[in-house]
Amino acid sequence: MEGYDLLVVGSANADLVIGVQRRPAAGETVLGSDLVTHPGGKGGNQAVAAARLGARTALLARIGDDAHGRLLLDTQRAAGVDTVGVLVGGAPTGVALITVDPSGDNSIVVSPGANARLTPGDIHAASALLAAATVVSLQLEIPLETVAATVRAVGPGTRVVLNPSPPALLPSDVLAACDPLVANEHEARYLLADHPASEDADPAAWATALLARGSRSVVITLGAAGALVADRRGHVHIPSEPVDAVDTTGAGDAFTGALAWRLGVGDDLESAVRFAVRVGAVAVTRPGAQQSFPTAAEVTAPGE
Ligand code: ATP
Repeated sequence: MEGYDLLVVGSANADLVIGVQRRPAAGETVLGSDLVTHPGGKGGNQAVAAARLGARTALLARIGDDAHGRLLLDTQRAAGVDTVGVLVGGAPTGVALITVDPSGDNSIVVSPGANARLTPGDIHAASALLAAATVVSLQLEIPLETVAATVRAVGPGTRVVLNPSPPALLPSDVLAACDPLVANEHEARYLLADHPASEDADPAAWATALLARGSRSVVITLGAAGALVADRRGHVHIPSEPVDAVDTTGAGDAFTGALAWRLGVGDDLESAVRFAVRVGAVAVTRPGAQQSFPTAAEVTAPGE
């Protein structure tokens, strides 16, 4: 099997979006705009982000044997992702039903579908794919036991990047494998819910507490303020260039996909975060999630 800079193990969803004047009450029907269908899911997003930048990327995920699944396969392949690890069947493709009102507020119902059927057995059956990757990136839109099985199955030479989203408490051996754990403010505070640092306003305090809990390194994403990177030697804040943000959807996935790729080609953590901050800054200047992710040529060097 060929080698990969990055293997993303995670979710793939179809995002079904309808604009509404207002949401229906119980028992009521309202008319909305034309349906727009976007490829999504944190795993799919990260894989597309990395592949579009030029990473040798594979995705290990489960989709349904249906039209949404075929759309997701097509968009992954079009971005250059190797879909040899995408399993088909067992349940319908995961779907997010999204209504957006004129003020931009959205309401979302997620049907995890096939994502919830990605099992530890599927991970064990994909051992050759795991062995072929320099970095494995995980999120929490698949069962936690499958995330844990992945972490336990990777070899000692493979680096694990984990974004705890949606947030859940992690088994201690999973946290101890994260190098880095990539969390936004909400996720960091959730993981530290029973820790005094969760009351602290300083992201460095969250990072320090997460390192003490066992994570090998920590990256806290800070929206327009960039990111904080921390390991046992200390921490550094990487600011973002100011940009005109139009849509932050998927910014965290673009950031993490880019970060994981740079680690996979040998960057040190701080350099990888500097690059990921620039990728995130481009992604927020464009609408949508996957469609907003840049190519390497579109990521400007600092000061350009
Ligand atoms: P989302 O859930 O919207 O995908 P997130 O909450 O997981 O994102 P953020 O911290 O909002 O994560 O964003 C991830 C990265 O994207 C940031 O670290 C930063 O580099 C970039 N970014 C996000 N918002 C902005 C912004 N307004 N201006 C510049 N860069 C941004």
